[in-house]
Amino acid sequence: MTIRLFDTAAREVRDFTPITPGEVGIYLCGATVQAPPHVGHLRPVIAFDVLRRWLTRRGLKVTLIRNVTDIDDKVLAKSAAAGREWWAHAALYERVFTEAYDALGVIPPTYEPRATGSVPEMVGIMDRLVEKGHAYSTGAGNVWFDVRSWPAYGELTRQKVDDLSPEEGAEVVAGSAAEAKKNPHDFALWKAPKPGEPESASWDTPYGRGRPGWHLECSAMARRYLGETFDIHGGGLDLRFPHHENEQAQSRAAGYGFAQRWMHVAWVTQSGVKMSKSLGNGLLVSELLSQAPAPVVRYALAAVQYRSMLEWSPDTLDEARTTWERLSGFVTRASERVGDVPAEEIAKAEVPEAFAVAMDDDLNVPQALAVVHEHLRAGNSALASGTDAAVRDELVTLRAMLDVLGLDPADPQWATSTDDRYATALDGLVAAELKARAEARAAKDWATSDAIRDRLAAAGIEVQDSADGARWTLS
Ligand SMILES: [Zn+2]
Repeated sequence: MTIRLFDTAAREVRDFTPITPGEVGIYLCGATVQAPPHVGHLRPVIAFDVLRRWLTRRGLKVTLIRNVTDIDDKVLAKSAAAGREWWAHAALYERVFTEAYDALGVIPPTYEPRATGSVPEMVGIMDRLVEKGHAYSTGAGNVWFDVRSWPAYGELTRQKVDDLSPEEGAEVVAGSAAEAKKNPHDFALWKAPKPGEPESASWDTPYGRGRPGWHLECSAMARRYLGETFDIHGGGLDLRFPHHENEQAQSRAAGYGFAQRWMHVAWVTQSGVKMSKSLGNGLLVSELLSQAPAPVVRYALAAVQYRSMLEWSPDTLDEARTTWERLSGFVTRASERVGDVPAEEIAKAEVPEAFAVAMDDDLNVPQALAVVHEHLRAGNSALASGTDAAVRDELVTLRAMLDVLGLDPADPQWATSTDDRYATALDGLVAAELKARAEARAAKDWATSDAIRDRLAAAGIEVQDSADGARWTLS
């Protein structure tokens, strides 16, 4: 069993061997908390959640760091526009992001550092870079990384500084700061406050007062929580350049091994165009959660292999819903027949070899889902004509596979009711109606039995008859 993952830096699928046997350190670039999340923000987070669940099931101890960028140009601009303190604005949207992650069943990261909590570590890296001649200050809080001082600059995205257009990846800075840079592609490690920016948004450094550049934030947090050299660094595809290129250049120039491999998650597109708020086609997570149950949204985001673009169409949620209902329907019926299976048993259960092969192959979720569907069919035929033992086997196998995808229908995460008392009361009332209907049917009183069925239908309750008696669902 070898886990193979695509490495953006090597541009090929490579065997994954952790630096420390049995352990994996992962750094995932988290949200810049300045506005509510859309599905494009959630896709990489869900892809890394699946990666983490799979590595864990493979017996590895995973440390996952996902940061919160709580200070940067956008946070300052948006908070000013909203008339809030920048830190209050960041805290507000950090909570909105957390709610979205929780709603979609994302396991919380091992640590979730805020950038503003690692300022001394950022200054430490900056000091090393200045000392080694890879960074220079142009006075008054501006410090730049000198890309020409680092011959490996561009290695992650296989570009040479000379081949970059002046605008590509270059930071837009105004006036004297721009003129003072040695090279248009030198990027900011530290930025002097702009006129009108709040005093609380800058920190003292040996190079003057200012605030960190975005790239330096991630380099500092990765080193602080995962060490100088760690296994996997990832994020959305659009972060490869300049963000990840710059992170790698400054960390390695400072003398750290940094990430041993890079994983990038493709975009969510609409009509082939990357979804983003600036295009006006952003689909907010809150909006989708009002259109479909949370596991349906998660299924839609998780079902496509992470390196393929996910084309979001009006049918995406409907298709996910149909599949989810088939999966959860089987789990409900099978559990009713053979009883609930404890979560510990699901966590320890073996997944089918074909499923493992698919997941080991760069997280080939579509192929893994094909195995899930084979077992769904086998489970349904076991329900129709098999033994209880056969039903239970398929239930355990299916739930174990779905658990890897964060989509086990019996996970309490997906319990629909927020208040058990309503569910209990409804259950009792519907059971009484179904009992009366069964008695009417036994007495061949079809008028009464149909009337009960219609009454339930009018209340939004659908009745299905099966060999084991009548079952009901909300329609
Ligand atoms: Zn980052």
